[in-house]
Amino acid sequence: MSNPHAVLNKVLNARRVSRAQALELVEKASIHDLGQAAYSIRTGLYNNQAFFVYNQHLNFTNVCANACRFCAFSKRPGQEGSYTLSTDQVKEAVASRLDEPIDEIHIVGGLNPELGYDYYLGLLRAVRKERPNVRIKAFTAVEIAFLSDKYGLSHEQILSDFARSGLDALPGGGAEVFSPKLRQRLCPEKVSGKTWLEIHETAHRLDIPTNCTLLFGHIETWEDRVDHLLALRDLQDRTGGFLCFIPLPYQPGNNELGARGPDGIDLMKMIAMSRIVLDNIPHIKAYWAFSGIKAAQTGLWFGADDFDGTIVEEKIGHAAGADTPKGLTIEQLRDYIRSAGFDPVQRDSFFAAV
Ligand code: SF4
Repeated sequence: MSNPHAVLNKVLNARRVSRAQALELVEKASIHDLGQAAYSIRTGLYNNQAFFVYNQHLNFTNVCANACRFCAFSKRPGQEGSYTLSTDQVKEAVASRLDEPIDEIHIVGGLNPELGYDYYLGLLRAVRKERPNVRIKAFTAVEIAFLSDKYGLSHEQILSDFARSGLDALPGGGAEVFSPKLRQRLCPEKVSGKTWLEIHETAHRLDIPTNCTLLFGHIETWEDRVDHLLALRDLQDRTGGFLCFIPLPYQPGNNELGARGPDGIDLMKMIAMSRIVLDNIPHIKAYWAFSGIKAAQTGLWFGADDFDGTIVEEKIGHAAGADTPKGLTIEQLRDYIRSAGFDPVQRDSFFAAV
C-alpha cells in the first residue's frame, strides 16, 4: 500500500489499518482527507447524533504520593492547597445537587497515603445511598494499583469489592502514554502501561466496562501515539469492554514538564486517527473541558461522537490552566452540539439514551 488514498479507501471499506498504514496516513494524508474518512465512519455508526451526559465530577482528594511531571492537580500531604473530603463531605456534595437529574457521577482523586481501604468502600456506599439510580464511574487503574500494592489485595478483589459497593464503570485516566521510555520521563512512579491494561482487562472480565485515554501533545511522537492506540485495540479485541476512547490534549500550565501542548490541527488529526485506528471501540470523545468548546464542536466533524457532559466542576485540567468553563448546563451542551450541526442525544454512562 503506497499512497494514503488507498489506505483511506481500505478504512472506508471497513478494513483494519496496520501500524505502518496508520503512520503512513499520519505522514502523508491531508487533514481534510483524514477528517472526511473519520467523519464518514462516525456518521456510519451514529448518523448525525452526538452524545452528552448529565454528570457530576467529584475529586475527593488532591493529595498524591506520586509526582507526575505533567500534573498540576496533585499536592503533597500537608502542602498548602491540599484537601481531602470526608465521606460526609462527599455525601453533602452529592446531596447538594439532588434536585438535578444527574445520570453519572465521575469520581477520581490523588493517591492519598492516609486514606484507608474502607474510605473507598464508604465513599462508594455513601454516593450510592444518596443516588440509588445514578451510574458511578470511579477510580482509575492507577488508584486500583495503588490500593493493591498498599493492602496486598488483588486487582480482582478490589474491583469486586468496589462493584459490590456501588461501582458501575471505571474511567480511562492514568493511561497517559504506554511507552515505558516516555513513562520514565513523564511519570516514573506511576504503574506501567502493562499493568494499566491488565487492570482494565480484569475489570472487563468482571463485566465492569471502562473508558480509555491517551495524553498527547507533549514529548511523545506519532509512533508512540499509534502504538498506544494499537495496544488498546488489541485489548478490545479480546474483551470488548471499552466504551469510549478519550484523546486528552496535554495542558501546559503549572507543571514541571514545560511542553507546549497540541495545536488545533494536531488535535483534529488525533481525533480523526483515533476513529480510524480504533475500529472496535464504539465511541470517541471530544472532551470540551480539555480541548475547549470550539475545538470539541469541530471534533464532531473529525470522527468524535461524544461531547462529554455538564461536569460542574472540572478541577484537574483547570489546575493546569485549561482555558475553558468548569462546567456547562444541559441547555448549553445541547446548544453547542446543535450549532455544530449535530443532533444532541442525552445518554448514561453506558451510552444508552435517557
Ligand atoms: S497524575 Fe494522578 S498519580 Fe500523577 S501526580 Fe497527578 S494525581 Fe497523582
